Amino acid sequence: MTTPLIAGNWKMNGLAADLGQARALAAGIGAASPSARVVLCPPATLLARMADVLSGTLVLLGGQDCHDQPSGAFTGDISAEMLVDAGASMVIVGHSERRAAYGETDAKVAAKALAARRAGLEPIICVGESRAERDAGRAIEVICGQVAGCVASALAAGPFAIAYEPIWAIGAGLTPTPAEIAEAHAALRCALIDCAGEQGAAAPILYGGSVKSENAAEILAIAEVGGALVGGASLKAADFLAIVSVA
Ligand code: PEP
Repeated sequence: MTTPLIAGNWKMNGLAADLGQARALAAGIGAASPSARVVLCPPATLLARMADVLSGTLVLLGGQDCHDQPSGAFTGDISAEMLVDAGASMVIVGHSERRAAYGETDAKVAAKALAARRAGLEPIICVGESRAERDAGRAIEVICGQVAGCVASALAAGPFAIAYEPIWAIGAGLTPTPAEIAEAHAALRCALIDCAGEQGAAAPILYGGSVKSENAAEILAIAEVGGALVGGASLKAADFLAIVSVA
C-alpha cells in the first residue's frame, strides 16, 4: 500500500506570527512518527521562512500553485523552479478556487503539472464537480474528464497525486457520503490507469473538502482514499495533527 499523503493548504491565510503552528505541527509529528507523509502549503510570502522552520523535520513544504513557465514577464506569478528554490518539494495545481477565479482550464492545469515535474516537484492535481454537476448525475463523468485533461502521459515518468475535491464540499462543512467518495475514487483510479499506466495505478488519490478530526478516520478508511487535502483544519497544529494521527 502507498504511504498516505496528508496535505495542508493554508490558502491566503498566515502571517509570520502563525509560523508557530508549523513549528508545533513539526514537533508533534516528530514525537508521533506517523505513517503518513505530511506537507504544508503556506502562502508564497511564508515559503522561505516556513522552509527554515520545517528544515530537518518530517513535514514537507509545498506551494499552492505555479506558473507553467520557468521565468519571464508574468507579474505576480511564481514558477515551479522558484518554489524549489524556496525549499518546496510539492505543489498544488488546479485547485477549484483557481479554476473559478482565474479561469484555469484542464489544459492550463496539465501545463502546470508538467512544469512542476520539470522542476522536480511532485504535483497534487485537484479535480472536483460542482453541486449542479453532482445533482445532474454527472460527477463521475466530470472528474474523470478532468483527469484525462490534466494528467498528460508525460507525467507518468514520476510521482504525482490527485486530490478529489467536490467543490460544494470545500469550506462548507459538507462531505459526500462514504459510498459517494468510494465511487468517485474507484472511477478516478480507472481514469488514472488509462492516462498514466503504472504511475497512475500508484498515485495517491486524496480526498478534500471539509475534512476535520471528526470525520478523518472514516474518510481515510475508504478504499482508494490515499490521503487528504485539508484547508481550514490545517491552520491550527492541534487540528491538523489530529487528522494526521488517524492516517
Ligand atoms: C481545500 O480548499 O482544498 C479544502 C479542502 O478546504 P476545506 O478543508 O476547508 O474544505
